[in-house]
Amino acid sequence: MSERRDEVTGRLAEVRRRVATACEAAGRDPDEVTLVAVTKFFPASDVRILADLGVTDVGENRHQEAEAKVAECADLGVSGLTWHFIGGLQSNKAAAVGAYADVVESVDRAKLLAGLARGAQGRPDADGTRPLDVLLQVSLDPPGAAGRAGADPADLDALATRVEETDGLRLRGLMAVAPLGEDPATAFERLAGIRRELLATHPDAVLLSAGMSGDLEAAIGLGATHVRVGSAVLGSRPAVK
Ligand SMILES: *Cc1c(COP(=O)(O)O)cnc(C)c1O
Repeated sequence: MSERRDEVTGRLAEVRRRVATACEAAGRDPDEVTLVAVTKFFPASDVRILADLGVTDVGENRHQEAEAKVAECADLGVSGLTWHFIGGLQSNKAAAVGAYADVVESVDRAKLLAGLARGAQGRPDADGTRPLDVLLQVSLDPPGAAGRAGADPADLDALATRVEETDGLRLRGLMAVAPLGEDPATAFERLAGIRRELLATHPDAVLLSAGMSGDLEAAIGLGATHVRVGSAVLGSRPAVK
């Protein structure tokens, strides 16, 4: 257990150093970039270690696992950790995710919105006025690419408007994953352009979640406010079943 803590402490320090170096290179204040530690496949005990080491934001991509882990960490306090849902979302699970997530980063179609809003109403700590933060996931893949996740850039403006019109949801910005087989800096440059365009009509969409263990520097260089880092912080995940 304390061996695990030592490992995570070392990895986290290295990731924080990478973030700081990338911010310096980009002339940005490190306070502008939030580290979201992606804890999928890792136990709640790791979330506790991270919280103890000052990590404020954690990310999960599978509903059942996320729901269980949030419950296991409930004693850390509602203000203690911000939970980001970053995975593909089925519309029949949206209400359940909206009930425990603080930020849903993977909103890619209007069909999810009513469920998310309904779930957000039922959050145990909600006083009825705290909206659920939403990021729109935009695809950086060529149209028609296999396994493409995220909204088409052409659909973002309309989707953003739908979020703004939904009580209980708050549009905060964009999320994207760099496509395989392309230089992430090129993909994130495209993303920066998409973001500029969205901000022109939706000025509150200021957040940009981009960058993972392998490409966080490129993302920070192109304006990311959130980097989602899993393996660099926690080690390699067990193979996906
Ligand atoms: C797993 C995952 C990450 C973290 O990936 P690493 O390469 O382990 O840093 C980031 N974003 C999403 C959407 C993920 O599913």
